Amino acid sequence: MATAEAHSAPNYHPLPVVVASGEGAWVTDVEGRRYLDMLAGYSALNFGHGNPRLIAAAKAQLDRVTLTSRAFHHDRFAAFCAELAELCGMEMVLPMNTGAEAVETAVKTARKWGYKVKGVPDGKARIVVAADNFHGRTTTIVGFSTDPDARADFGPFTPGFTVVPYGDLAAMEAAVDRDTVAVLLEPIQGEAGVLVPPPGYLAGVRRLTAERGVLFIADEIQSGLGRTGRTFACEHEGVVPDVYVLGKALGGGVVPVSAVVSSREVLGVFRPGEHGSTFGGNPLACAVGLEVLAMLRTGEYQARAASLGEHLHGRLRSLIPTGSVTAVRGRGLWAGVDVSPALGTGRAISERLLAGGLLVKDTHGSTIRLAPPLVITEEDLDWALTRLRETLTA
Ligand SMILES: *Cc1c(COP(=O)(O)O)cnc(C)c1O
Repeated sequence: MATAEAHSAPNYHPLPVVVASGEGAWVTDVEGRRYLDMLAGYSALNFGHGNPRLIAAAKAQLDRVTLTSRAFHHDRFAAFCAELAELCGMEMVLPMNTGAEAVETAVKTARKWGYKVKGVPDGKARIVVAADNFHGRTTTIVGFSTDPDARADFGPFTPGFTVVPYGDLAAMEAAVDRDTVAVLLEPIQGEAGVLVPPPGYLAGVRRLTAERGVLFIADEIQSGLGRTGRTFACEHEGVVPDVYVLGKALGGGVVPVSAVVSSREVLGVFRPGEHGSTFGGNPLACAVGLEVLAMLRTGEYQARAASLGEHLHGRLRSLIPTGSVTAVRGRGLWAGVDVSPALGTGRAISERLLAGGLLVKDTHGSTIRLAPPLVITEEDLDWALTRLRETLTA
């Protein structure tokens, strides 16, 4: 059999498992071994592998029409936009495919709004972002990353971004000036290690941006759509941003679906021909997205993430006295676990957990992150936590 290393660019370093099938929170490898998926495609698989409702919606649409391009209308588009806007409490939707494309779209939206509505002088628009951010991999986006691996050798970069420390409201306040059109933040920084900002930070950013006439763009690509126990992570602070950027779980783990969601004042700045995507808002994406939205409207997945999340965090915190874990962060079914560096790198620990039947992914240093599908049962979650305890305290 051909190995992945032989003909794929080495831009990933996958754990040594070859998945052949998946169902719910479980996957099976080519040799028939089963693993509990505690990563869930970085939250793209919030509803689990092969979710019957999502697969049925996709199959039904496959037999009707899959792609029209936006040159024509199709019969799933209006409903998808209307229902997504409603879920967000907003007015307009601009659908794209991947998360990075949606972030790029939000950057373009904010700049155009800055020139046309706010009155920023041409070419001067600035966007304030946070250190340790992760917003995707395009050249513009990695240009305002602070991760050397993401940036090195990929310049020159797009100007117009100011980076401030995450969670530092005073630094944010000092960075926002007359030409600032937007603040772009993850309400919880996922790739950075599931960092939850200090209480009051998001509310403070909301107050500051409202006072200064600056858009608050919340990148909820990973934190949104149920993961933290609410539809949006911003809700934990009672915050409604001006712009949501969504992706990952919006496509139900079936197809890439992303979107920028905002008001008419903001997204209404676009004119035909100024922005677009061949696949953005295609019929298959809309059909799957509509089913995702119907599932989220039940509130069932948010409630599961909240109650199972309490359980997860309680059991993870109980590892701290054993000395194997130094800190646990996160909300809902989402945790960053700092493993004692004495136990090895995050990679080494992930490999040991894999051998025990758990799929997890390390982030920086000795941090592993846990984000199981929201459909995981309490029994399976407990099984995973017992494996984790055994592996870390062995
Ligand atoms: C994954 C992610 C992105 C990028 O999404 P892609 O679909 O991989 O382009 C952007 N922002 C956040 C917060 C993410 O987690």
